[in-house]
Amino acid sequence: MGGARGVRKTPPAPDPSPPLASLAGGGEKTAMAAGAAVQPSPGEEGDGRSRSEADIRERAWRIAAQVEDPEIPVLTIEDLGVLREVRVVDGVVEIIITPTYSGCPAMQLIALNIETVIEDAGLGLPRIMTSLSPAWTTDWMSEAGREKLKAYGIAPPQPGSGRRALFGEEAVACPRCGSMQTKQISEFGSTACKALWRCEACGEPFDYFKCL
Ligand SMILES: [Zn+2]
Repeated sequence: MGGARGVRKTPPAPDPSPPLASLAGGGEKTAMAAGAAVQPSPGEEGDGRSRSEADIRERAWRIAAQVEDPEIPVLTIEDLGVLREVRVVDGVVEIIITPTYSGCPAMQLIALNIETVIEDAGLGLPRIMTSLSPAWTTDWMSEAGREKLKAYGIAPPQPGSGRRALFGEEAVACPRCGSMQTKQISEFGSTACKALWRCEACGEPFDYFKCL
């Protein structure tokens, strides 16, 4: 890794007051314990503070962005669109995530992993906040994420298909042969986020990342 990719991710501006809640696992405790302020590195020119805060924010984003989804390890939380915002408040890194669906057990593990990588990077213990509004949709999954899923043999959610899925009119292409002759075998695949489908052209069963 470590490539200076030209794309500087600019997370969407937050609502003035999104309903933020500390993640259940850490709860109040996490927020309280996160006192380890990040020192702006010394020797930065002049108006150092805001400049280095921007640097910290950018670094924290890059590091957090590499945390994987425990259920689909080929996807990072950035690919999924779960990583929403990184900011520095009073020297403490705050990371805002949106769960893929409420009650997703993977989220607590994700929050823990973010804490670990941010702390290991010397950025202090971050506050992890969950934002439930707007709700996550599969449309937030990046193009790179969709490609990775397909390469992994999981049919990626189709952009904007959530509504069609709701009415059972979903058409899912087989991730192996691309055929549209597919049908759902079971509403649940290897995890609750996925459904089990089978391709009638090549006969292969495959997981489909459910649209929300
Ligand atoms: Zn097929």
